[in-house]
Amino acid sequence: MSIHVTVLGCGSATPTSFRNPSSQWLDIQGEHYLIDCGEGTQTQLLKFKLRMSKLKAIFISHLHGDHFFGLPGLISSMHLMGRKEKLQIYGPEGLFPILDSIFHCSQTELRFHLEYFVVDTFKSYVLLETPKFEVISIPLKHRIPCSGFLFREKPKPRNLRPELMKFYNVPIYARKKIKQGNDFTSSSGEVIQNSKLTLDPARSVSYAYCSDTAPDESIIPIIDSATALYHEATFEDNLIDRAEQTFHSTASQAASQAKLANVEKLYLGHFSSRYRDTKTIENQACAIFPNTSNVHDGFTFDVM
Ligand SMILES: [Zn+2]
Repeated sequence: MSIHVTVLGCGSATPTSFRNPSSQWLDIQGEHYLIDCGEGTQTQLLKFKLRMSKLKAIFISHLHGDHFFGLPGLISSMHLMGRKEKLQIYGPEGLFPILDSIFHCSQTELRFHLEYFVVDTFKSYVLLETPKFEVISIPLKHRIPCSGFLFREKPKPRNLRPELMKFYNVPIYARKKIKQGNDFTSSSGEVIQNSKLTLDPARSVSYAYCSDTAPDESIIPIIDSATALYHEATFEDNLIDRAEQTFHSTASQAASQAKLANVEKLYLGHFSSRYRDTKTIENQACAIFPNTSNVHDGFTFDVM
């Protein structure tokens, strides 16, 4: 499985001429999801030729405006464009009364069903499950309730060792269970351990989105060994006090999280509008976790 990510916005707080507020588009083998929906997300979708009609679900991390003020507009446009299919929205408590109120006051009767899922931002659990992958919440440490999201491919079946299938005369019908990790009992009653019959499967792909948050070690087990981590790095290292006051992270703090979690790749975003050039943030992070890249609006990457 691979996850193709398009960054639609990676700025914090207020939009600038060079950076939109947070939003990311995920293409998981033809299924499309949105994480966060800051103001202007619609125009970014148009700019990068991504079709809003394809979206199956939208995940909102928290209720600061730079992460969801684009959502009512996006839903409204889907309505005007004749969407019929239901749309799933995952977000913190408080989001859904806001949306209902907006559509009520504007006398907008949506032509499609909004299926709401309130995310408990204080625990980690499975929000969405498909045959191939699941989405798990990541409780983040921010000024208001906030959740990150881990997109994780389900474990792949174990690989059978053909020579041992032959040696133990394992019938075809028994092989599926062995691939799932079960032991095998031969016709003579001998139990052969699964570890002897199989090899480890290829690793599963995972992508963790952690924004907004102060550095928090309690999430390390959840994002452990992720294929890629997107972590906010709102400030350069010299503004560590400001980061602490506002429950954000500096470049080095984000990189330390990546190192602790032993992820393969770190992407940084959610940059303060005071930085037009974010090279210093990337350099500071690379000193701790070398496999780091800053993103920018329109930046794409594959998690695979
Ligand atoms: Zn925030």
